Amino acid sequence: MSPLEEAARIIARSRFLVALTGAGISADSGIPTFRGRDGLWSRYRPEDLATPEAFARNPRLVWEWYRWRMEIVFRARPNPGHLALAELERMGLLKCVITQNVDGLHQLAGSRCVVELHGSIRRVRCVSCSYRAELSEPPREIPPRCPRCGSLLRPDVVWFGEPIPRDALEKAFDLCERADAILVIGTSGKVMPAAMLPQIVRSRGGAVVEINIEESDITPIATVFVRGRASEVLPKLVELVRELVGQ
Ligand code: NAD
Ligand code: ZN
Repeated sequence: MSPLEEAARIIARSRFLVALTGAGISADSGIPTFRGRDGLWSRYRPEDLATPEAFARNPRLVWEWYRWRMEIVFRARPNPGHLALAELERMGLLKCVITQNVDGLHQLAGSRCVVELHGSIRRVRCVSCSYRAELSEPPREIPPRCPRCGSLLRPDVVWFGEPIPRDALEKAFDLCERADAILVIGTSGKVMPAAMLPQIVRSRGGAVVEINIEESDITPIATVFVRGRASEVLPKLVELVRELVGQ
């Protein structure tokens, strides 16, 4: 049996399947992963820009970088990988997507249950008051200011060194404690707690199905590793699952 067929069997007989996604699933929508080469920004490390310290030191620089990323995200469209996950949810198999991505593409693809561990680049919030807003385009003025109190606005994302929002974290742990299978797609497994979630499923006897173009830190605990691009593997996987469950 090929890894893809094995993955399809696990998914077809699962009772509570969840997915964990990383930047790799959005790579085929044209959104660079942090480990890729980003031209203009390749001389900066994300670890040096996506931090509260960097923002305090130079909000304009951090905002320039986010404006560039926002321009890419607002132009991007869900790819067949995102669409396949939405389809698995509609089939009643996938219970929820836990994502480290900040691009909102799962929701645009039609996924209804999405836990955003790292927030969203499509929102801003005030550093001083409770003001929050949805954006429909990148801000024109950099750095943008709070219309309520005049303080700086920041992207509503989780930076290195910041805690994951508590409700998202609790939901992710709760889902993984109930899951008998987890699909892990396009994540290097280097950032916590993403790295821990598949381990929770595995330690309770569940299956870990990994899809990635290369081996990751999750691969050693994977029940099945399917090598390939998420946008190519996921639609094929859903087709096989459909044949198995007769939908
Ligand atoms: P990551 O740690 O999740 O690593 C990317 C992984 O995707 C790698 O393992 C790589 O082998 C794999 N990959 C690349 N292309 C793929 C494809 N077509 N199909 C399947 N797998 C593929 O992500 P990162 O880039 O190191 O970023 C770390 C954090 O930065 C994320 O958790 C996120 O918060 C943020 N980030 C978000 C986005 C986004 O929202 N799209 C993009 C970049 C970074
Ligand atoms: Zn404010």
